[in-house]
Amino acid sequence: MIPAKFDYTKPGSVDEAVSALAGGGEDAKVIAGGQSLLPLLRLRLSFPDLLVDVGGLGELRGVRDEGETLWIGALTTLDEAQRDPVIAQHCGLLAQTAALIADPAVRHRGTVGGALAHADPAGDLPAVATALDATMIARGPGGERAIGAGQFFLDYLTTALAPGEILTGIRVPKLGPGWGYRYEKFHLTAQAWAIVGVAALARRADGHVAEARLGLTNMGLVPVRAQAAEQAVAGAEASAQALRAAAERADEGTQPPSDLHGGSDYRRHLARVLTARALAVASGVS
Ligand SMILES: Cc1cc2nc3c(=O)[nH]c(=O)nc-3n(C[C@H](O)[C@H](O)[C@H](O)COP(=O)(O)OP(=O)(O)OC[C@H]3O[C@@H](n4cnc5c(N)ncnc54)[C@H](O)[C@@H]3O)c2cc1C
Repeated sequence: MIPAKFDYTKPGSVDEAVSALAGGGEDAKVIAGGQSLLPLLRLRLSFPDLLVDVGGLGELRGVRDEGETLWIGALTTLDEAQRDPVIAQHCGLLAQTAALIADPAVRHRGTVGGALAHADPAGDLPAVATALDATMIARGPGGERAIGAGQFFLDYLTTALAPGEILTGIRVPKLGPGWGYRYEKFHLTAQAWAIVGVAALARRADGHVAEARLGLTNMGLVPVRAQAAEQAVAGAEASAQALRAAAERADEGTQPPSDLHGGSDYRRHLARVLTARALAVASGVS
């Protein structure tokens, strides 16, 4: 289908983009790689009056080592996230997950910022950002503000970004020594969205799992932390049996949907199985 009519602007700076977006109110939308927005426009599920194309803004590009944290520009493509050596060294979970998203064509256009701002419950990066304790940096007419991942995803395809605000980048704490990671994704066909996904980070010390952070994909309208499993695994022996026991609690407190791809009980089962697998790799337990 042909999209409904819209105006289009390609600003030369983030400030210009913010003014254009704020001027367009609720009927204006940012477009970055277009990999989620264009299909919605073509299906006429979204019909903004104005598209603000941020694709050319150098300020939104790049990866910076800030000491304790990494700054990853919103326009970093999924392909760049997969290959960037600084991300691989300090935030390997993001690199590993980006490689599992869609296909090379989508990864070359789709951006980290777009994947987060789109807030698809089946999208992989929201759960990863949640497990990483990432902070989203937004710029709007009132200036810049930081939004923790736990406060960023509000509902189905809905984030805390206010009308007129642009996601400029994310800030991610570096993973120090002892941390392992793994994203496990269950999908029916290669290069498709997750029916359930689990992002696991674990810090191992003295044969035990000192702490773990677990983000769940598609176990509710927004990404959630598997807090009961995180608490169960903290301090546990790094053994397959102990990790499986903790993973049995992965679906506690979740509200997984039932749809054509699977019922909520099936998703609960997947969350437990995938959590055990992800924790095993993240904790170095073969
Ligand atoms: C065939 C196909 C397969 C896919 N498979 C997967 C998959 O397996 N896993 C997965 O997680 N995703 C998957 N995706 C989705 C893909 O990852 C996202 O479409 C892409 O990353 C979104 O980034 P984008 O730059 O293209 O965003 P756009 O499509 O440009 O924008 C998406 C949304 O985010 C908003 N937005 C974008 N950038 C900003 C910004 N800087 N500030 C504020 N708002 C912004 C837009 O207004 C829009 O609402 C798939 C997509 C396709 C087409």
